[in-house]
Amino acid sequence: MNVTSRIADRRQPSSGKGEESDDARPSTRVLKPRRAAPADAVRPTRAEVNLEALRHNLHVVKRHAGRAKTWAVLKADAYGHGGPAVARTLERAGADGFCVALLEEAVELRDAGIVAPILVMGGYYGGAHELIARGLTPVVYDMAQVEGLARAVRAEEAGAFPIHLKVDTGMARLGVTMAELPAFAERLAKVAEVRVSGLMTHLACADAPSSAETTEQMRRFDAATDLLAKRGIRPSVRHAANTAALLRGDVILDAVRPGLAIFGASPVPCPDKKGFGLRPVMRVRTEVVSVRSVAKGEPVGYGALWHAPRASLVATIPMGYADGLSRSLGNRGHVLIRGKRAPIVGAVSMDMSMIDVTDIPGAQVLDEAVVLGAQEGPCGKDVVTVEEIAVHAGTIPWEIMTHISRRVPRFYREP
Ligand SMILES: *Cc1c(COP(=O)(O)O)cnc(C)c1O
Repeated sequence: MNVTSRIADRRQPSSGKGEESDDARPSTRVLKPRRAAPADAVRPTRAEVNLEALRHNLHVVKRHAGRAKTWAVLKADAYGHGGPAVARTLERAGADGFCVALLEEAVELRDAGIVAPILVMGGYYGGAHELIARGLTPVVYDMAQVEGLARAVRAEEAGAFPIHLKVDTGMARLGVTMAELPAFAERLAKVAEVRVSGLMTHLACADAPSSAETTEQMRRFDAATDLLAKRGIRPSVRHAANTAALLRGDVILDAVRPGLAIFGASPVPCPDKKGFGLRPVMRVRTEVVSVRSVAKGEPVGYGALWHAPRASLVATIPMGYADGLSRSLGNRGHVLIRGKRAPIVGAVSMDMSMIDVTDIPGAQVLDEAVVLGAQEGPCGKDVVTVEEIAVHAGTIPWEIMTHISRRVPRFYREP
């Protein structure tokens, strides 16, 4: 497909609603090339996305949010679960809006027919016209962005354009610093083309054992709110909570921005034994493609990083680090076969990994192997959680989710 026909394709209105981009400007591209689609899938390595679990988690989150609005965070392709399908499911299930990191991600959601409010938390790099045309709400944190938006608003003859202002209360990533805020507010109050409808900050330590850092950040956030109010800037929505803050009930304010909880994981322990009741949304499965006997003392895989401590049966699965099975899981991680845990042995390679199935009676080619999620089979019932994989890989659940690569097709399931 050439570039022109691809642009022409993208200009097909997808829903009739929320489509205002039918002007002469080429629209921003979504992040292409696209990942493998179910229809193209020959390989047995697949991610199953449970839409019922997604709706369930939204309801758990909304219960915690109370009267605050719930804006599900769907950056990075909805944490690897697939932005359009996740957004459609959550929009129908009553999400109040969505947050994304990039303009491209927001455009992808609008192209998928999403009409709910979308907050673009960063990464629009001068795409002011696109923001206006698509009805997106940008987060601003410097004056050049405000001026760029004001110019675009004048050119489009749009009314005062709603923006959210981000203040840096202690994360030192994005946001107007407390020191800059008085002068910033002074200038911002004079720009008639934008209207500060929201005020936000981001918490650095919402999941820390102590809430001292969060308390200090919120003290500054309140001070920022007062300072802005004195200059006539009174946003109707204030928000700060990510999953950790929300589940702790710390700083709910007017809206919450949960990401991880939507996908079924919590960064904080539940104070009571029952747990938060979140359900994992993604299950990653493949099938054994080869099984061999390995004599005691023989090596397995690149670098001979594992030697069979006894006469062993070793299965090969067609999933490797290029699919998102971290190389750090070599000699550490587990997969489920026939409902039982089996260790990953030797190095994880790009497309394949080896599993010690000596203790799995009957293990054979075509057996299902579950890399993430639950399995029940003749040898039992077990689950590999995203939290467990993160510990084994020396990272965090967010990274595990977002690393399942586009080579792994997503299958959407209603159980
Ligand atoms: C990613 C992100 C969130 C969501 O964080 P979770 O811990 O996944 O809930 C919220 N706010 C901002 C600004 C973010 O970047």
